[in-house]
Amino acid sequence: MKYPGKIRRAFAFLFLILAMATVSACGKTQADPSQDGVIQVVATTGMVADIVREVGGDRVRVTSLMGPGVDPHLYKATQGDMAKLDQAELIFYNGLHLEGKMDKILKRMGRIKPVVPVAEKIDPKRLIRTEDGQPDPHVWFDVQLWITAVETVRDHLIQADPGRKADYEARAAAYIGELEDLDRYVRKQIASIPKKRRVLVTAHDAFGYFGRAYDIQVVGLQGINTASEYGLSDVQQLVNLLTERKIKAVFIESSVPKRSIEAVVKGAAAKGHRVSIGGELYSDALGEAGTPEGTYVGMIRHNVDTIVSALK
Ligand SMILES: [Zn+2]
Repeated sequence: MKYPGKIRRAFAFLFLILAMATVSACGKTQADPSQDGVIQVVATTGMVADIVREVGGDRVRVTSLMGPGVDPHLYKATQGDMAKLDQAELIFYNGLHLEGKMDKILKRMGRIKPVVPVAEKIDPKRLIRTEDGQPDPHVWFDVQLWITAVETVRDHLIQADPGRKADYEARAAAYIGELEDLDRYVRKQIASIPKKRRVLVTAHDAFGYFGRAYDIQVVGLQGINTASEYGLSDVQQLVNLLTERKIKAVFIESSVPKRSIEAVVKGAAAKGHRVSIGGELYSDALGEAGTPEGTYVGMIRHNVDTIVSALK
């Protein structure tokens, strides 16, 4: 069978299009994710993932294991997390035992790929320690300390991808500038609360660095780890403090059940002192992605604005 030249050329053209489409479809499904020049990163908490996103930009694809409302002290890796950790080229976590139940798996991953605790470069002298010498892991609440974490992420991204050094350096510098502004904002806002009312009462001791950096007394019902128990006497002590100091607001945390703080409010009411819940703070997890509180800067601003409007 013979076709006129025009139709033959049309068939040839169609064949070419089909062949190209097939090649590009295969390319998409078969490509190794790391071969498109994008680094696959897994981060534990949202705060750590946010640094990677800011410094890495579109050169990095970051997955955070712990979403909004998740308590990192109690979090255990799921089967899905194991697959993500296996596929990652680079893993970042907070460290200082924040992710206490993930120690083993992170150590195991560390034998085959870079696994970086972002708090590792913080001067040990600047860490807060409990009476038994445990470091307080909540370093992100001192913005100056968190800048050190940004520098650590920057240096490890450069190590993994030296060709884009200048890009990572520029992005990190811009972000650090934003954090310097944030640090000034927090200092100014907290200073606007009269000194005797500057007491922050929360469910667990997540705000030790915040208190030290921005000059506000902090009291938590539970210690620095939510895995620790608290008893009736702890509630009573806190109630006494609230009553004596005439503190008018306490705060719940997005990643800790609110019943502990509600017990304190009830206890104070029984002694004739009215305490209100001043709002919800983001302590150990960011808010929902796509909202202002879904970023580190937005989380800190939300907390500060909430604290100031309840205590001022
Ligand atoms: Zn905590």
